[in-house]
Amino acid sequence: MAKQPMLKFVNVARDMPEKRPPDLRRGDFNEIYGEYAREKAAEQSGRCSQCGVPYCQSHCPLHNNIPDWLRLTAEGRLQEAYEVSQATNTFPEICGRICPQDRLCEGNCVIEQSGHGTVTIGAVEKYITDTAWDEGWVKPITNGGERKEKVAIIGAGPGGLAAADMLRREGVQVTVYDRYDRAGGLMTYGIPGFKLEKDVVMKRIAQLEEGGVDFKLNTDVGTDITFAEIRDSFDAVLIATGVYKTRDLQAPGVGAEGIVNAIDFLTASNRKSFGDAVPEFDSGELNAEGKRVVVIGGGDTAMDCVRTSIRQGATSVKCLYRRDRENMPGSQREVQNAEEEGVEFVWLSAPKGFTGERVEGVMVSKMRLGQPDATGRQVPELIEGADYLEEADLVIKALGFEPEDLPKLWGVDGLEVTRWGTVLADFQTHETSLPGVYACGDIQRGASLVVWAIRDGREAAQAILAQLAGKTTAPVAAE
Ligand code: FAD
Ligand code: SF4
Ligand code: SF4
Repeated sequence: MAKQPMLKFVNVARDMPEKRPPDLRRGDFNEIYGEYAREKAAEQSGRCSQCGVPYCQSHCPLHNNIPDWLRLTAEGRLQEAYEVSQATNTFPEICGRICPQDRLCEGNCVIEQSGHGTVTIGAVEKYITDTAWDEGWVKPITNGGERKEKVAIIGAGPGGLAAADMLRREGVQVTVYDRYDRAGGLMTYGIPGFKLEKDVVMKRIAQLEEGGVDFKLNTDVGTDITFAEIRDSFDAVLIATGVYKTRDLQAPGVGAEGIVNAIDFLTASNRKSFGDAVPEFDSGELNAEGKRVVVIGGGDTAMDCVRTSIRQGATSVKCLYRRDRENMPGSQREVQNAEEEGVEFVWLSAPKGFTGERVEGVMVSKMRLGQPDATGRQVPELIEGADYLEEADLVIKALGFEPEDLPKLWGVDGLEVTRWGTVLADFQTHETSLPGVYACGDIQRGASLVVWAIRDGREAAQAILAQLAGKTTAPVAAE
């Protein structure tokens, strides 16, 4: 009888791929986790108990068939594991790296609930697809025949790219517009290399280009081309523009030099890593080297800013957050990584104001957690008389993002938005209030995650294909 490769969680402990020591990590922007060796991946996959009702799968936004690819990995059938994994996920190696697994698949793994430590689902997913790339199992994008229908996608982030991939595989002509000079959206310019090395993203973009996706980069819709022009020239349009308006602070002195937005700071750092000329980095404006840095915020963007500052050579890095560790929105795994690298978290602290024409310090108010609000979250309350001055040479505001007012920006009548300013669209078909216009990713759901953008993009592509199929008797668009 064949040896049972699964259910090993009782005897085999959870083991993540090796993490580089903090001293080494601090010196570069390379990813911090290594790769499993083949035997290790098989061993860790074999810890899965093959649940009849796999909560890991139901809590993965893509409903990845996790138990099956874990079993195939445990059995050494890696190519089949890759085929199963890529069937539901356009970018499995990216999700394996940057999904907050502790809040999604792994956080709901039943063996975690029973105290044995979750199966390392993300690390195995990354391993499978990295291996597939190395072995040449990742095939070019092909289709069974070119079609005449044309779809425009505005925004080359994960949402737009996932849709582009699916549409090209059906032979649809796809043009992707993006205002930046590189595709990838926040995967390219927001998320730092120590979480997601850029060649991983660029490889996928090359695959899409080679698969026939026409990228129109350096093209800002609303400035370089109007939305109406695009709508007139295509059979369907997908809006996947993400959310980029920085939530701001209202506090005295907030306009001082040296107080910068997180997205500007992270984009400059990522551009520098690509070897681009970045005058704002070279001038010191968006560079933490030799500075006392204070980052304001408790989400994943704040975590990326503190860890980027460390790598740029800041003399000290502090993170101010108005709630405590247990109540922060950012991933606990990232807080731990940041602490290991030398970041100091100052919990229950909020900025009251800033000193200096060029920033010299942050006036910090101390907070305590009061009664829960309607959402159940405890509300931070001010502790009177506990203010103090935190000296700083660079302050980075990482308070979250809001959608821009697209209908106004693009002069589009009839494109409805929600009260939060996101584009109103059906959550299954992603169709907006304008016929033939779809929306996906952050611009539909508000600042979220790469994996949700991928899911939305895939769903939107399905709905567009259904729309195009319904149009088969109608005249095709002019070429
Ligand atoms: P985006 O990725 O924002 O892409 C939108 C694209 O549209 C951009 O390329 C933009 O240039 C383009 N665009 C916008 N307006 C126009 C226009 N008018 N004309 C032409 N092009 C336009 N998620 C995770 O899952 N894990 C993480 O670790 C993680 N870390 C993050 C770290 C940071 C710093 C930030 C800011 C976000 C992070 N996220 C993370 C969230 C994740 O990146 C987003 O949820 C995801 O990228 C949204 O995808 P999207 O396709 O909707 O939009
Ligand atoms: Fe987990 Fe994300 Fe992979 Fe789903 S896509 S299995 S949530 S790492
Ligand atoms: Fe395996 Fe955990 Fe998923 Fe169960 S919940 S199938 S143990 S990974």
